Amino acid sequence: MSDTTHGAINPETRARALERMRSEEFDIAIVGGGVVGSGVALDAVSRGLSVALVEARDLASGTSSRSSKLIHGGLRYLEQLDFPLVREALRERALLLDRLAPHLVHPLPFLALLNHRGWERPYVGAGLVLYDTMGTAFGRSRGVPSQKHFTRTQTLKKFPALKKDSFTGAIQYYDAQVDDARHTMFLARTAVSYGAQIATRAQAVGFLREGEHVTGVKVRDLEDPDGPPIELHARQTINATGVWTDETQDMVGARGQFHVRASKGVHLLVPRDRIHGDTALTIRTETSVLFVIPWGRHWIIGTTDTDWTLDKAHPAASKKDIDYLLEHVNRYLVTPLGHDDVEGVYAGLRPLLAGESESTSALTREHIVAHPVPGLVAVAGGKYTTYRVMAADAVDAAVHGLEHDVPESVTDRIPLLGADGYLARWNARNRIADESGIHVTRIEHLLNRYGSLIDELLALIAEDPELGKPLEGADDYLAVEIVYAATHEGATHLEDVLTRRTRISIETWDRGLTAAETAVQLMAGPLGWDESHAQRELDHYRARVAAERESQEQDDDLGADAARLGAADVAPTLPVERLTDRNTRAAAGAAGEPLAAQEHAGEPVAPRG
Ligand SMILES: Cc1cc2nc3c(=O)[nH]c(=O)nc-3n(C[C@H](O)[C@H](O)[C@H](O)COP(=O)(O)OP(=O)(O)OC[C@H]3O[C@@H](n4cnc5c(N)ncnc54)[C@H](O)[C@@H]3O)c2cc1C
Repeated sequence: MSDTTHGAINPETRARALERMRSEEFDIAIVGGGVVGSGVALDAVSRGLSVALVEARDLASGTSSRSSKLIHGGLRYLEQLDFPLVREALRERALLLDRLAPHLVHPLPFLALLNHRGWERPYVGAGLVLYDTMGTAFGRSRGVPSQKHFTRTQTLKKFPALKKDSFTGAIQYYDAQVDDARHTMFLARTAVSYGAQIATRAQAVGFLREGEHVTGVKVRDLEDPDGPPIELHARQTINATGVWTDETQDMVGARGQFHVRASKGVHLLVPRDRIHGDTALTIRTETSVLFVIPWGRHWIIGTTDTDWTLDKAHPAASKKDIDYLLEHVNRYLVTPLGHDDVEGVYAGLRPLLAGESESTSALTREHIVAHPVPGLVAVAGGKYTTYRVMAADAVDAAVHGLEHDVPESVTDRIPLLGADGYLARWNARNRIADESGIHVTRIEHLLNRYGSLIDELLALIAEDPELGKPLEGADDYLAVEIVYAATHEGATHLEDVLTRRTRISIETWDRGLTAAETAVQLMAGPLGWDESHAQRELDHYRARVAAERESQEQDDDLGADAARLGAADVAPTLPVERLTDRNTRAAAGAAGEPLAAQEHAGEPVAPRG
């Protein structure tokens, strides 16, 4: 396998990263490879710092592959009068659309449905004017057109699937859409292209300490669970573990005063032809907002918002969640959807900073950066859209602890891999199609998933024309995408490819079971799998699909969780050291010095808001 490509992640780069983690001291170690951790890696490495990141599972395997996939200011937060959050998010939206990731982030028109005559249109309209205005602040283009008002009849023309008496009119506004898992993977690859060392399936199981000072992370290689732990030494360590933040803080005995709680959000996928319309919908529910979002040849419908205290790695959707979404969307549709229309289901956990409110929908999505003990920074909360700001704040906090001067964040000027040259290639897509012999709609698909890195995929197809063929069982994708995921995008297991590098696991009726058989063969060569290894991957994937299906037939969370846990992980995580569960002073005593963590605990250094 060649990893000479700039920013490739594959088993060879992983092995080298782990080797360097064993032998070098880094400026910054990061725990967690979601959007925040990967964003921290890019921020820190592009300031000239040496960076190592460990992720216990796959890149974006936590919340960062399970969002509504919107890059947005969040109209809901406008209603909560949270102007700073909305303004910040709209600035990030413009940056992503215009400069950082134009290949991955695309404008998306929405219809905000109105339910009342009289007061609602001026109320929502004024909010959207504010939304538009904030989007143009800072002298930046907002990257999207402004709002338009529609009567009921005009709305029905745009969205014929709507029940006539279910709404009174609509206002069109724009936000943006992203494939979250791909964006996070691109962030990680971009960080690698600047020199960051990244290892997935590498779990932080404890912290290294000198007295009260955290000096790095104790890491276990989950692909070699019997191997010795790796002592990853770093001057500063950043905990970017999303809904696992409290558990990670437990490892140092310094949970602090802020806590992160999890709120489950479930989404359904149904085929595009089940709903006649061509724009996204925003529907207000009793407690929150329901989105109906076009997604390739599918619609994404979501989301729920309920407390979740069960397994965090595999939040499970129950029948109750699915019923809730179907019932709410059906209030607006002429032809109601049923369980048989549901192709795919996914559930994710919002990392919410614990607040006083009972209802999770009312909790803030803003973030916090804290310095619970010397050498350790925790960053948590926020939302996908504002990852870059969170990352910059976390690195700002960490560099206080470094001896030398460190430049300010430059990530607002660092396009992700694939962004440079994307527009020119987009404009040349017909010529690229002619030259490669691949249909222009396929070229468009590739451009919106790889940007200018499309050249690397086309080169693979030129070497082996079989790779230019559609993947059996998931023919929206080409075979080359599976190979490239293994050689360049850090996919080390079948589920990484079917769930996150592609979305085959939620976009096909059989949840990817047919595609799995070809995909496993395509991955086997580059990853060096023999027949029994490939069979193990298939068995794991099949068991996972069966467990997910079973969980979605359970009436409640407990049943869904138990059913989902029926399928084992392909590289299970290991027990961690929990200092808060023990006598922390005794533990510190063993290290020779008193532990001062509790005294420092939870002092926020950069509260947002
Ligand atoms: C249903 C839903 C819809 C959403 N929709 C949107 C939206 O449309 N737009 C938006 O802006 N935001 C949205 N969000 C919020 C957004 O998705 C999250 O805020 C964001 O993805 C959190 O990223 P993170 O990196 O903090 O966490 P994660 O992505 O969960 O990353 C944390 C990582 O840490 C790893 N980890 C944990 N413990 C360890 C350990 N010991 N060692 C190594 N690694 C470890 C985990 O495996 C995980 O990959 C949504 C969230 C949900 C749940």
